[in-house]
Amino acid sequence: MRDTSSRFCLLSVVLGVCITVGLSAQTPQPGIGLDLEEIRAIANRVRAGRSLQPDTWPEGARVAVSISFDVDNDTIAIARNENPSIGAMSQGEYGARVGLRRVVELMDRHEIPASFFIPAVSLVLRPDMVDVIQASGRHEFGVHGWIHELNTELDAETERELVTRALAYLTEATGSRPVGYRAPSWNFSPSTLSIIRGLGFMYDSSLMADDRPYELMQNGEATGMVELPVEWILDDAPLMNPRGDRYTPPRELLQVYIDEFDKAYEEGTMFLLTTHPHIIGHRSRIIILEELITHIQARGDVWFATHQQIAEYVKQQARME
Ligand SMILES: [Zn+2]
Repeated sequence: MRDTSSRFCLLSVVLGVCITVGLSAQTPQPGIGLDLEEIRAIANRVRAGRSLQPDTWPEGARVAVSISFDVDNDTIAIARNENPSIGAMSQGEYGARVGLRRVVELMDRHEIPASFFIPAVSLVLRPDMVDVIQASGRHEFGVHGWIHELNTELDAETERELVTRALAYLTEATGSRPVGYRAPSWNFSPSTLSIIRGLGFMYDSSLMADDRPYELMQNGEATGMVELPVEWILDDAPLMNPRGDRYTPPRELLQVYIDEFDKAYEEGTMFLLTTHPHIIGHRSRIIILEELITHIQARGDVWFATHQQIAEYVKQQARME
C-alpha cells in the first residue's frame, strides 16, 4: 500500500526542525474524494428533522423519563458465533433467570412503566418472560431484531425478512403488535428506515442526533417517524463490562446518569436510559438503578412513561399524522 503519511516541515528555515504528522496509511478515507452533492446525499439518507420537544409534558411535568430494557440475554452469543461459548451463553441466560425478574420487580414496586425491547429469539428460548413483563399491565414490548442481528452486515432483503419475522413473533407471543423498533446494537443500516416505515412502526429508538424527540428525515423528506434518541453514555452495556476497556464502576456510572437527568430536568426535556437485564440486573448494579429512580422521584414533577407513550404524545402535540 502506498504510504500516504504527510510530512510537514514547519518553521524549518528558522528552527531547523521537521515535524512529522503521521496520518495512518491504514485508515481509509473515501470521503475525501466525494463532491458536495455526493456528501449531501449520503448525509441526508437518514437525518434528524424538526425537534418534537413539546411545550409541556403531561400532568404538568417538567421532564419526561423513559427507561428501557433490552432483553438480549444469550442472543448475541448465539448470533455471532459458529460454535457459541457455553460460558458466554450462560452470562446472557442470567438475564432471563435472574435479571429480568429483578428489574421488573423494581419497576413494579415503584409503579413505573418501562419499555422492553426483545430479540424474538430471547422469547423463543424463554417464553415465560412475557408473563413476568405483562403482570403489571404497565410495560411495553418493542422489536429488537430476530436474533440481535447486525443490520449493516445484511442485504436489505434479509434485514427486512428478519424484522418482519420478529414483529410477527412478538405480536403472537405478547398479544399485541409492537409500535417501537430498536436496532440491535443500534446498528442502523441504510435500509432500516425504509423497512420499519414499511412495517408501520410509529417510532425508532436507535439514533443519537439530539436529547429530545425528533422527526426522522429520509433523503430530505419528512417521514412522520418519531425518533427517541439514545446514547452510549446512557447505556449500561459498554460501561459496565468488567472485561471491556471503558469499565466504569456502577456507583460512578450512577453519577453520570444523575447528571444527565439533572440537566434534562433543568432544560425540561427528556431522559431516556437503556439498560439490559443481564447487566443491570446484577446485585451491585440494580442498587444504582433504584438510587437513580429515587433521585428522579424526589423531584416530583416528572412524567414516567413508556417510549410508546412519549412517541404518541409528541406526535399528537406536533400534529403529525
Ligand atoms: Zn441489544
